[in-house]
Amino acid sequence: MNPVPVVGRFAPSPTGDLHFGSLISAVGSFLEAKTQGGKWLLRVEDIDPPREVKGSASRIIDDLYRLGMEPDGPILYQSSRYAAYQASIDQLLKAGRAFACWCTRKDLPPSGVYQGTCRNGIRNGRKPRAIRLLVTQETCDFSDALQGNVSVSLTRDVGDFVIHRADGLYAYQLAVVVDDQFQGITQVVRGADLLDSTCRQLYLQKTLGFDSPAYMHLPLALSADGHKLSKRLQADPVKHHAPAVAVATALLFLGQNPPAGLALTPLWEWAIENWNSKLIPRSKPPSAAKV
Ligand SMILES: [Zn+2]
Repeated sequence: MNPVPVVGRFAPSPTGDLHFGSLISAVGSFLEAKTQGGKWLLRVEDIDPPREVKGSASRIIDDLYRLGMEPDGPILYQSSRYAAYQASIDQLLKAGRAFACWCTRKDLPPSGVYQGTCRNGIRNGRKPRAIRLLVTQETCDFSDALQGNVSVSLTRDVGDFVIHRADGLYAYQLAVVVDDQFQGITQVVRGADLLDSTCRQLYLQKTLGFDSPAYMHLPLALSADGHKLSKRLQADPVKHHAPAVAVATALLFLGQNPPAGLALTPLWEWAIENWNSKLIPRSKPPSAAKV
């Protein structure tokens, strides 16, 4: 039997230009896929129009091409996927794994962890607001390729979480899970700020009957113990930098040691030949990283 082909992805939100923080995820996910002979796909997570910056999706894509990272397939736009998200919600509602919630923000406890108030049906006279996933599994454990074993109490720290928002938008967690399945993603390489989301995504995958990809959470620009990005670089759009300099900066941040002064093509050749994920510095725990 042939092993499952590796498929990685980069999934930016079009909320501004490509910055070094997301460039690090792009470079990390690209090299993890390419060095295993895999494919690297691109997904634009444009499901939150109020947060989007006009034109930024095409500017991010242009930057990636300019930096030498071309996706191995058509770009998937989440704004074209509403029917698939709705079908998954309908499936969960029908199976009794999700429920309508009438609570407003002030009905939620200060911890923000939902206490199951609307699990058993309709509140008279109020309009349903959101759809929540019924969370019945006590804990979630998984092994992250970089951060090691992660264990989260779903009942205590997560609770029944929103999959269709009260403002009518589809929730990020649902869209990611449905699209990772649709695109056949086998490994997710992204910033450690999303480590917190992983257990919700694993639980959703299980509930929907999907396979789970492997996960690797990269250090954040603010929290890495290795090469730190300067404040200026963190804030600076990548487009202001020469492509080879931008890619070399991301590689250095990821603990790799490219020879100085290489042009873009030999730099990528070096990176694909020498990429070693064991050299990536681990981040501090995400709670500390958010400071
Ligand atoms: Zn409720």
